[in-house]
Order: sequence, then C-alpha cells, then structure tokens
Amino acid sequence: MKRDSYQRKCALVTGSTRGIGQAIAMELAKEGINIAVNGRGTLDTATQTLDMCRKEGVDAHYFQADISDTASRENLVREIKERFGRIDILVNNAGVAPIERKDILETTERSFDRVIAINLKGAFFLTQIVAKWMIEQKEKFPDREFVIVNISSVSSYAVSINRPEYCISKAGISMMTKLFAIKLATWDIKVYEVRPGIILTDMTQPVKEKYDKMLKEGIFPIKRWGTPEDVGKAVVALVKGFYPYSTGDIINVDGGFHIRRL
Ligand code: NAD
Repeated sequence: MKRDSYQRKCALVTGSTRGIGQAIAMELAKEGINIAVNGRGTLDTATQTLDMCRKEGVDAHYFQADISDTASRENLVREIKERFGRIDILVNNAGVAPIERKDILETTERSFDRVIAINLKGAFFLTQIVAKWMIEQKEKFPDREFVIVNISSVSSYAVSINRPEYCISKAGISMMTKLFAIKLATWDIKVYEVRPGIILTDMTQPVKEKYDKMLKEGIFPIKRWGTPEDVGKAVVALVKGFYPYSTGDIINVDGGFHIRRL
C-alpha cells in the first residue's frame, strides 16, 4: 500500500502499454493523476508507459490483466484497490482488430467471439465492477468526481463490410455508454464516449496504405492521420470537469469524418 498515493486521483486506462492508451495515460499523468497501466503482456511491455508517466511526477503501476477474462478483471480491480486505494477515472481503451479481415459472408465464429470478448464484453463487465466501486466511493466522498470514458470508433456507425465483428463491438460500446450514463447519473458519475477516426498506431499499420489513399481522396476533412495524443487530449478535456451537466455525450476525434456531405 502507498498511503501518499491515495491523495491523488487515480485513473485506470485499459490497454495502455502502447498506442492510444499510452497517450491517454501520458496526458492524464500530465494532469497529476496516478495511472494504473494495463495490458495483457509481461511487465517489459509496459516500461515505456510507466517511465513516461513517472516523469510527470505521478505514481504509475502496471497491472497485467486480460480484460476478456472474468478472474483477470476481478484481480485487476482488487490489485488497484490495494495499490492506490481509489479509482476516479476508468478509460475503456483496450481493443483489438480481427486477426484477419474477412467479408461478412465469411466471418468466423471464432473471430467474432474473440473481438466481442475483448472489445465489448470485457469493457462492459469491467465497467460493472468499477462502477460499483465508484458508487461506494461517491457515497463516502461526495465531493469527488468520477468519470468513465469509453473509446469506441467511427466503426460504431460506419460500415466496414470486411470486419463486421469489429463494427458490432464498437456499436455495442456506444450503447453501453448510454446505458451506464443513465444508471450512474443518480450518483453524478459521468460516462462519455470518445470516437476516434483513423489514428496512426500499431493497429492501423497493416492498413496504412489504404488509409493514406483515402486521406488523399479527401474522405477525412482534416487531411492528416489522427495521433494518439489527439485522443489523449480529448479524454483529458472530459475528465477535467468542464462538462459538469453533461453525460452520455460523444466526442468525435476524427478530423470531421462524421459530417455528412452532399
Ligand atoms: P493497439 O493495438 O496499438 O493497442 C491496443 C492495446 O490494448 C495494447 O496495449 C494491448 O496490449 C491492449 N489489449 C489488447 N487486448 C487486450 C486484453 N484482452 N486485455 C488487456 N489489454 C488488451 O491499438 P490502438 O490503435 O491504440 O487502439 C486502442 C483503442 O482505440 C482500441 O479500442 C481501438 O479499437 C480504438 N480505435 C483505434 C483506432 C485507430 O485508428 N488506431 C480508431 C478508432 C478506435
């Protein structure tokens, strides 16, 4: 236990060993928030994120946990309780793309189960455990502010016919945001959705050329790739308490992609 750590806010960012999650962790650390870093891999996969956060003067600790696994999720929250004693912010960021993109008529049940288990079911049941703990904390410390941010995607409404399981998982995240926003409003716990467009990370490396071409064609009004920091900054804006009477809202981080044009 680190008693001094209890004084600062604590954020759990799932899947924060790299990419968007790492940038979210980093931007939150800059705000003086302690970070519970999470990923599936061994400690060495988290070294970079931990170092970056600690340089900002906060306490950062790695919690290895597969969020698609029930026991792993329960351990994760128990270990955060022991280490930080509190959780003020949950960012459901961990997610995967299908290992192989396949047309909707060829999608396998195995791939469907894998993607849904990580992207949707894992996030849902982790939120359930964390939300119960946030409610307990809110009743004990009414002045504290609690926020949950779900990282969805433009895929929650834009169709990619060759990765339906991913689109369905992200559409589920959008509904999950509204469901928890309503339930948790009773305790003034805010729930938001951040919807990234195309962000340059390891996840998008295999389709980089395809998206480079789409950028040239002008599909994205702001003509550049999004960066993990773009998403991290949006998350910070939400957790800083500047939207005190808003919940269930969606922040698009997509260079204007969501705007319909004629
Ligand atoms: P990434 O592959 O670079 O990183 C994913 C992270 O999630 C890694 O840290 C990985 O270890 C972790 N992770 C994967 N499965 C996990 C599990 N079962 N348990 C715990 N951690 C797990 O991906 P990214 O591009 O940084 O994407 C992060 C999130 O943003 C994902 O939910 C993704 O769907 C979403 N998103 C990404 C883009 C994009 O263009 N990159 C666009 C929209 C939405």
